[in-house]
Amino acid sequence: MLPYLHKNSQKSKHLKRKSYAYIFKYILIGDTGVGKSCLQLQFTDHHFQPFHDVTIGVEFGTRTINIEKIPIKLQLWDTAGQENFRSITRSYYRDTTCALLVYDVTRRETFDHLDNWLKQILEDGNEKMVVMLIGNKCDLIDNRVVTTEEGEQFARANGLIFMETSAKTAKNVEEIFVKSASTICNKIKDGVF
Ligand code: GDP
Ligand code: MG
Repeated sequence: MLPYLHKNSQKSKHLKRKSYAYIFKYILIGDTGVGKSCLQLQFTDHHFQPFHDVTIGVEFGTRTINIEKIPIKLQLWDTAGQENFRSITRSYYRDTTCALLVYDVTRRETFDHLDNWLKQILEDGNEKMVVMLIGNKCDLIDNRVVTTEEGEQFARANGLIFMETSAKTAKNVEEIFVKSASTICNKIKDGVF
């Protein structure tokens, strides 16, 4: 068992409602303002925050979901105030099971910076980490500048899973976590982890 895949060893009788089989560490990365904090909040609290709240440090969120009846606790690490791809430290990536790499479909530069983010993932992440590409703010139809096809193409070229989301309407928010956690579970079954 590798260190970034924490199997729960606590006795479930003490944790009747919160019992889980695994903890997966997720990190949310991508440029400032793409909607990382909002995606996290929508997933953990089913809530959308319309103003930009730049928090300092790292914010955590957790939620347990079932994948094929196995309870998996997702521990989400949201960077705040250090979204320059050069300033996220190596320790942030440690023990990460899944990276959600987010861009904003209404801001071209956030898509153009994906190469830099991937480069850092390769340098500082572990090679088994699942990376999912997320084109957020797809509710802003009139402001869209990055097409779905461009996102798909980038994902295919780099071996990433891809989905477009809206943290505002909650479109595909549940789905990105279920899809990535299922991918990890399949890798566990296949003995990759
Ligand atoms: P972060 O810097 O990546 O954490 O970005 P935030 O989550 O703080 O979001 C930045 C801004 O974009 C905020 O004003 C949010 O309300 C807005 N926002 C985030 N996600 C969406 C979305 O899916 N649709 C729309 N319309 N606005 C969003
Ligand atoms: Mg944030």
